[in-house]
Amino acid sequence: MGIRLGLVSVGLVLVGTLVPQVQARESRVALNSWQAASFPVESFHSYTSGYGPRGDGFHYGLDIAAPEGSYIRNWWAGRVVEVANAGNCGTMVVVESGPWEHVYCHLRGRPVTTRQGTVLEDPGSGLQVYEGQVVAAGTRIGRVGMTGRTTGPHLHWGLKYAGSWVDPAVVLRAMYSQQQAQLRRQS
Ligand SMILES: [Zn+2]
Repeated sequence: MGIRLGLVSVGLVLVGTLVPQVQARESRVALNSWQAASFPVESFHSYTSGYGPRGDGFHYGLDIAAPEGSYIRNWWAGRVVEVANAGNCGTMVVVESGPWEHVYCHLRGRPVTTRQGTVLEDPGSGLQVYEGQVVAAGTRIGRVGMTGRTTGPHLHWGLKYAGSWVDPAVVLRAMYSQQQAQLRRQS
């Protein structure tokens, strides 16, 4: 546990210093800050399953219930590295942001391979999501669906730092405490 938290702490510092360099002109983005990060669903309903041991296995992500067809937002600026159908995860989009990888499962639609690469086909969504695409934080990258192994519409959100899974709830708590502090400074 100590090791896992340690990795997250390192990640917080690394991402916090990387991104402001890119967004230096957005002066409100303070150093070591998650200000620009986005909560991954638009229509939050509830958390239905946390990261950790579950049954006789381990749940490598956070389940966030949201209405079927509601939009999923990219957590942190990066590049779409995978659009695929991944077994229990169903239709999946993976975004890479420096040492972070964020995985979005059970999306609506399906991957389709074209000459331009693999794209997410989700008719009626108005989305254009494809492998290699550069995506800002908060960009819509899919919709909540029921693909893969799921009993109800939710986003399974997985986070990896330097190749190891971390608890997304730890990151969300850090993100919120910084965003709240920023709001207090502005008011
Ligand atoms: Zn899950």
